[in-house]
Amino acid sequence: MQKLHAGIHHFQANYFASNRDLFAQLATAGQQPETLFVTCCDSRVVPNLITNAAPGELFIVRNVGNIVPSMSRGVIGGVSAAIEYAVEALQVGNIIVCGHTNCGAIEAILNPAGVAHLPFVSRWLAESERIPSLIQERYGDLDPEARRLAAVEENVLLQLENLRSFEFVARRLAEGTLKMNGWVFKIASGEVFDYDPVSEQFLKLVANDEERPPLSARDVVAR
Ligand SMILES: [Zn+2]
Repeated sequence: MQKLHAGIHHFQANYFASNRDLFAQLATAGQQPETLFVTCCDSRVVPNLITNAAPGELFIVRNVGNIVPSMSRGVIGGVSAAIEYAVEALQVGNIIVCGHTNCGAIEAILNPAGVAHLPFVSRWLAESERIPSLIQERYGDLDPEARRLAAVEENVLLQLENLRSFEFVARRLAEGTLKMNGWVFKIASGEVFDYDPVSEQFLKLVANDEERPPLSARDVVAR
C-alpha cells in the first residue's frame, strides 16, 4: 500500500503537474471518450498504457474474462449499464473488446471444474460456456497452447456477438455511427492483434493500419 501512496505523489508531481490544463478541461467540460474499451480485470492488461490513451479517451469496463452478458440470457448488471451509458449517453464511436493471453478466466472457461469452489466466478464465466465445445469442434487438432489462444480469440468474438444483442448497439452499428473491434493483447510480446473479418484471422496491429474495415454487424453474425 505504501508503494501506491508513493505512486500518487509521483503522479501528482509529474504527470498531473505537466497536464494541469487537460485535467482542468476534463473537469469542467466533462468526458467525451471516443471508445468503450471492454477488457479483463487482469492486472497485466493496462488499457491506457498499451494504447497510449490519455485521460478522457477510454471509457473502460473491466470484468473477469472481458465478458459482455448477452441480452438473451437476461443478465442485468454493471456491464450492461456501462455499455448503455457509453453508447447512448456518451455516444462513443468505437467499442473494443480486448482479451489477452495467459488469461485465468479462459483457463477456467475451458476447465470449469477448476473454479467449482468459486460460485460467483463459475456463474459469471457460464456466460462463455459454449467456448469449450466450440474449441473442441473447430480447433481440436491444435496443440494445447494454440487451443488456448483460439479460446481467447473466440471468447472475444462471442462478446462482440453479445454486444449486438443490445438493441441500441445494433441500431448504431446499422446507422454506421458505431464500430466494433475485437482485440487480443499478448502479454509476453506486448503485441495487439485485431480481428479481420475478411480473413477471419486476428492480425497484428501496426502503425498506419487504417485500411482494414472495422468489424461490421454482419461479419460477427456470419461466424
Ligand atoms: Zn483475463
